[in-house]
Amino acid sequence: MSKNQELQSRKVAAIARGMGNMYSAYVSHALNAELWDVEGNRYIDFGTGIAVCNTGHSHPKIVAAVQAQVAKFSHTCVMVNPYEQAVELAEKLNQRMPGTSPKKTIFVSTGAEAVENAIKIARAHTGRRGTIAFTGGFHGRTNLTMALTGKTTPYKHLFGPFAGDIYHAPFPMTYHGISVDDAMHGIETLFKVAIEARDVAAIIVEPVQGEGGFYAAPVEFLQRLRTLCDETGIVLIIDEIQSGFGRTGTFFNSERAGIEADLMTMAKGIAGGYPLSAVVGKAEIMDAPLPGGLGGTYGGSPVGCAAALAVLEVIEAENLVQRANEIGARFKTRIEAMAKRHPGVIGDIRINGAMMAIELVHNDDAHRPNTELTQKIIGQAQAHGLIVLSCGYYSNVIRFLPPLTISDELIDEGFDKFDAIMATVLS
Ligand code: PMP
Repeated sequence: MSKNQELQSRKVAAIARGMGNMYSAYVSHALNAELWDVEGNRYIDFGTGIAVCNTGHSHPKIVAAVQAQVAKFSHTCVMVNPYEQAVELAEKLNQRMPGTSPKKTIFVSTGAEAVENAIKIARAHTGRRGTIAFTGGFHGRTNLTMALTGKTTPYKHLFGPFAGDIYHAPFPMTYHGISVDDAMHGIETLFKVAIEARDVAAIIVEPVQGEGGFYAAPVEFLQRLRTLCDETGIVLIIDEIQSGFGRTGTFFNSERAGIEADLMTMAKGIAGGYPLSAVVGKAEIMDAPLPGGLGGTYGGSPVGCAAALAVLEVIEAENLVQRANEIGARFKTRIEAMAKRHPGVIGDIRINGAMMAIELVHNDDAHRPNTELTQKIIGQAQAHGLIVLSCGYYSNVIRFLPPLTISDELIDEGFDKFDAIMATVLS
């Protein structure tokens, strides 16, 4: 039995199956866009641990910042003895969030926790109970965020009852014939049949759906949500957990709509792999909960904050926001050439900076998802030395999330591998 196989059988025996793994390549070390397994096999990483290591694996500046912090102290708790790193990071995120209103921040540890807290803040601010989320959306695996998530298996099946007063409206998807008007009409219908607008605390939306399949919300949709929230006093929460920190070619994806969210959730790319997340938002809304009502033991860990401050520097110094667009353009050329070579297979190509995906279908038919082909691709990737991820609520989307620090040479080498995988699975 190989070392990877041995570790996989130990993993299956020791870790509950609910925490599944896509690949049985057990990591020994990783650098920028490459990782190596315990058998010495090399992989090009087009997954970055699900859009986390936007600044690449083990970026020297982030490693140095973390090492320096760990040598000083690892934890005191922001709620007991705070420290400058957390204050400085909050100041920087307040500045970074689009819009001119004064901003405030809270830190927690995971994406789901950021979303939970955003909903708590919206409820405290409005005194209302309801939340509207969207079909195909993903917001986490805790009880409240499971309820917000718009995909049943594997996220909701077996896990109810869920938090109440959560309603789903259709997410606009041009490729699947759902227009912005349809989506807005879905919300208006909820106001008539399920919950009045004046009882709704928040609308939460991903500007580009992540787990749902990399569908970008049309600019007009985000703008109409902003107007609707202004008219009804509903808090607009933009979940930038997967799309933020330069990933899509703007610092936050929703910048392209020119709107100011009331609250924004951030995680993943924020700290290059250290568990840190944040809610940033309009100060008057953020201050609605009473002192002690928000937080947590590890929220704003000094190690996470040190990493995040280094991440912000690296994004700026290395022009990574701009680089995301170049990466998107390079992938686009390669994907379009591949689509021509395999007609009818790639139904849709979605390039949002370096948040890129292809939707796999039968016979060019948007309504016939090719889930089997997607699984076959994932099944072949490890043997070809490539890490790619799937997503989509029919699990028929392959997503590409290379680090924004990847070189053109590694993009080409990685895509050559992807070409070879497609040729194998379609032969
Ligand atoms: N929101 C979005 C948009 C996400 O992509 C994710 C994670 N995939 C989450 C929330 C939940 O984050 P976490 O897994 O860190 O709880």
